Amino acid sequence: GTPLVAIVGRPNVGKSTLFNRLIGRRKAIVDDQPGVTRDRNYDTLEWNGQEIGVIDTGGYLPKTHEHIDLAVREQVEIAVDEADLILFVVDAKTGITDIDEDLASILLQSNKKTLLVVNKVDSVEWEYEIGQFYNLGLGEPIPVSAITGKRSGDLLDLIIEHI
Ligand code: GDP
Ligand code: MG
Repeated sequence: GTPLVAIVGRPNVGKSTLFNRLIGRRKAIVDDQPGVTRDRNYDTLEWNGQEIGVIDTGGYLPKTHEHIDLAVREQVEIAVDEADLILFVVDAKTGITDIDEDLASILLQSNKKTLLVVNKVDSVEWEYEIGQFYNLGLGEPIPVSAITGKRSGDLLDLIIEHI
């Protein structure tokens, strides 16, 4: 079937913005889908003739939820079970947070293929922030700017390579 890529990460790193960028349109969050895609956005895209399914996790997590860590961790665990490839999104403007470290260790232990995506690298000045993310132990950080679309084609090339 169609390979499945899941976008995971803590709130506000830009998962939904990246999802919309990758699928090439804005998509309203659909809340009444049955089963595993509930509370999440799903769509497919085609890149170099390859069809890929993409899930944006955390679509309905309230950003101030008191159990936000637990909720995000649960989303990551589901994504690990379901997806062929994980896009773990972190934020160049905030740097590494406790939740990021938590999620990184779950992903490391899962042995699931993971691309470490550093979002919000909107301009050259933010490129100095990229190196710190090597500390998450998930390999080479991949800079993108979901808002400007910078390097989203490079990211899609890498997704095809790793799927
Ligand atoms: P999510 O909670 O991870 O789904 O994050 P959202 O996609 O809702 O984005 C959270 C905030 O980050 C919003 O204000 C976005 O406009 C902003 N954002 C997302 N991507 C970028 C980016 O590449 N650069 C900048 N500067 N802001 C971004
Ligand atoms: Mg979102």
